[in-house]
Amino acid sequence: MRAEDTGRAQGRDDRPRACPSTPCRSGASVLGVTTGVGRLAYLPMPVFVDSAFEARLEASGRPESRYRFTGPCVEGECAQWTGARCGVIDHVLDDPPGPERAGAAGTALPGPFLPSCSIRADCRWFAQRGAAACAACPSIVTDVGGSATYRSTRP
Ligand code: SF4
Repeated sequence: MRAEDTGRAQGRDDRPRACPSTPCRSGASVLGVTTGVGRLAYLPMPVFVDSAFEARLEASGRPESRYRFTGPCVEGECAQWTGARCGVIDHVLDDPPGPERAGAAGTALPGPFLPSCSIRADCRWFAQRGAAACAACPSIVTDVGGSATYRSTRP
């Protein structure tokens, strides 16, 4: 077990979790907006995405490249699920930097302050990797055109 692998240590893995990098769709919520320097600006509270909002976001193209969305972690129904955990945050923290972490150098070590984030109590990534996940989280872009963090089918 990893030192920061907090979920199992605290017995919290059985309850539903929130995905911090879910696709844009009606019923999801906007977690944050990717800024021009590639860092996520977290919203104070997630903003619900209804079908009209989804259509507007889709019309502008690849919303997951510009926003991060949150919704229920669907575990085995997600291509990123490894059988017992989310493979995205493990990949980001454990594997060599890839394009989904472009510009993220130096952000993986947790500092004294975690991002101000409204879903921490339920977050899948935080449950798995604790503060290390939050240290990397602001630099993660869901859709960088097909990567280990997103099975993009978009052009
Ligand atoms: S900042 Fe931490 S708790 Fe919030 S979405 Fe990112 S990993 Fe989850």
